[in-house]
Amino acid sequence: MTMVRNLPRYACGHVHSADAYARADDHSQTLSWAATDLPCSNCCRHLLATLDLNPEVYVNLQQLSPGMAAFVIEVNEVAQPLDGVLKLTGYVHRAASTDELHPGGDAFDLPNAVWRKEYWFADETEPMHVVALLRHLKQEMRWLETYLPKGERGIHFADFVPPH
Ligand SMILES: [Zn+2]
Repeated sequence: MTMVRNLPRYACGHVHSADAYARADDHSQTLSWAATDLPCSNCCRHLLATLDLNPEVYVNLQQLSPGMAAFVIEVNEVAQPLDGVLKLTGYVHRAASTDELHPGGDAFDLPNAVWRKEYWFADETEPMHVVALLRHLKQEMRWLETYLPKGERGIHFADFVPPH
């Protein structure tokens, strides 16, 4: 294993675990650096638990337009500082999707709002590229679960945000 010279240092003063950083892929390392203006995942997780909030993550596949599909990530029950972390790492505020064919629209309906990120690909994409994208997505989930009070148990694949 190579020595990691620079580790992300967060707003709370904590430094990213060298072990976890070394195990993360490029994508997750980039996500970590993007969120250093906010408290670290441990501090975020404890704060959310204190607020009695239990954000969970739903990852699914949606047909977003003719010929285009996307892996979609939606996170519910989010408050600061996780709000900020998601915003800094490419998530946008949207209404929750209902199912594979009904993506959520604008977040006018605030009680039902989620943070969403989409990874698009064309229907005719080579399966090996789709698998690579899925691997990328799983790495992102390994990073995101460190922010959740429930950890890995808060990540749901092939599932949708439960209706209110
Ligand atoms: Zn911290």
